[in-house]
Amino acid sequence: MHATMMDYPLTLAHYLERAGTLLGDREIVTRLPDRSVHRYRFGDFHRRARQLASALARAGLKRGQPVATMMWNNYPHQEAYFGVACAGGVLHTLNFRLHPGDIAYIANHAGDRFVIVDDVLLPLFEKVRPEIAAERVFVVALSGQPVPAGYESYEDLLGTGDADDDLPRPEEGDACGVCYTSGTTGRPKGVVYSHRAMVLHTMAMCMTEPFGLSQNDTIMPVVPMFHANAWGLPYGAVASGARIVLPGPHLDPVSLLDLAEAEGVTFAAGVPTIWNGILQALDAEPDRWSLAAGLRTAVGGSAASEAMIRGFDRHGVRTIHAWGMTETTPLGSAAVLKSSMEALDEDTRYDYRAKQGIAMPFVDMRLMNDSGIVPRDGETMGELQVRGPWVAAAYHESDELADKWTDDGWLRTGDVATIDAEGFMKITDRTKDLIKSGGEWISSVDLENALMGHDAVSEAAVIAVRHAKWEERPLAVVVLKEGAEADADALQGHLAGRFAKWWLPDDYVFVDEIPRTSTGKFLKSALRERFEERLVAGDG
Ligand code: AMP
Repeated sequence: MHATMMDYPLTLAHYLERAGTLLGDREIVTRLPDRSVHRYRFGDFHRRARQLASALARAGLKRGQPVATMMWNNYPHQEAYFGVACAGGVLHTLNFRLHPGDIAYIANHAGDRFVIVDDVLLPLFEKVRPEIAAERVFVVALSGQPVPAGYESYEDLLGTGDADDDLPRPEEGDACGVCYTSGTTGRPKGVVYSHRAMVLHTMAMCMTEPFGLSQNDTIMPVVPMFHANAWGLPYGAVASGARIVLPGPHLDPVSLLDLAEAEGVTFAAGVPTIWNGILQALDAEPDRWSLAAGLRTAVGGSAASEAMIRGFDRHGVRTIHAWGMTETTPLGSAAVLKSSMEALDEDTRYDYRAKQGIAMPFVDMRLMNDSGIVPRDGETMGELQVRGPWVAAAYHESDELADKWTDDGWLRTGDVATIDAEGFMKITDRTKDLIKSGGEWISSVDLENALMGHDAVSEAAVIAVRHAKWEERPLAVVVLKEGAEADADALQGHLAGRFAKWWLPDDYVFVDEIPRTSTGKFLKSALRERFEERLVAGDG
């Protein structure tokens, strides 16, 4: 027997049309650079995104050609997320925190034909403009100033489009977006998403588990829209009919808490750095904000510590710890407790919630080490490998890293992890950050999380430093909370009961801040360089 179903394409165009025709009254709120608030509804968004698609097609954009954005999280960016893809084009979100040389390389490597830029980011864009080959640059006048000479206006571009045009009909295998990963070695690599991958990823993320997005939600993506599709939220919000709150350039804890309170945000997402700051603000002034009851936050990009998850629970905010990569669109796993786990004691529940969780539907996970597939015992570490319909099978026009994929078709993530009998995955390290002491692996992430559980510690990064006898030993680099005091002995005492003696750092250094990557992760390579010459004297 053959299936008798229609072959209907899974494309983002469907979500846009559905939002415009069935969910037109839902609201999109943007905090503008001057802190005033812009509001409009899905109906307006639908019309303008269609106008953008029509204008791009009329301007000659062909199927599969990229249009770059250099933008904060705001409503024109949300329009570009759909408008570019519905013109048959490919949305290329540029990470403006990268070095200008890298931005230019990425834009030229992708072959961006047009660029849309926020006017407040023009000073940054000017640094790359002479280096990039894009034909036309459209400026979004968000700051109330006229568009400067030498640039075209985004609003004028929209004016050349007609929302009633017949738009090109992308096929589900067509590219809809591209993000470059900022690897620490070699040139950035492009991951090209298809409509099909994005639609399936959207449906999976909206399911009750992990995120349960619905019309009852007001969603605030704090994660930048240039980082891994803002974790799919611009699509998930439109698909589920949730209200959308976009914070623009104001990402300090107080501004975010003010906005979340004023707009009744029920779901927010961002990296632990952002949440650490927010937690400290809440702890300092617990009565200042009244946040929506049941507010939940997706935290990922680097490890959320158990201390942070517990800390937010005290303020009635539920953390959902998730793992992913640019190469996985990005959602790969999330730590949502199974119903059978609700009866476990509190500490065990927190143990599970602080892991990176169980694989999303359609994502297969396995761990490999030199002896093959690693048992799911929650202890043996191995390299995490994944496959699935929203997992990259190659990089855009680059064969530099062909060994990222195994011969039997799995993506080698570069993460080292354990998986327990419940299927909960826990990241213990990046392969390149692992500390190998006397031939045994020490998890820097475990040590960091435990250190961040100490009252006086704001942030901690643990790196490998060379050791005459053991080859490598852990060195802890610690930032203390403002006004707090703790010395190496106190921190060592804090860790002592939790880890085997040979895991404990040989030394501690106290610094004012830990260097970060453009997406807010610890830049351990910079720390390793800084402490390269440090030979630790301890006996391990
Ligand atoms: P990117 O492609 O820049 O988002 O980086 C992906 C990498 O971020 C992953 O391979 C992990 O090393 C790291 N990562 C993402 N989420 C988590 C998490 N929840 N815990 C620990 N590391 C994470």
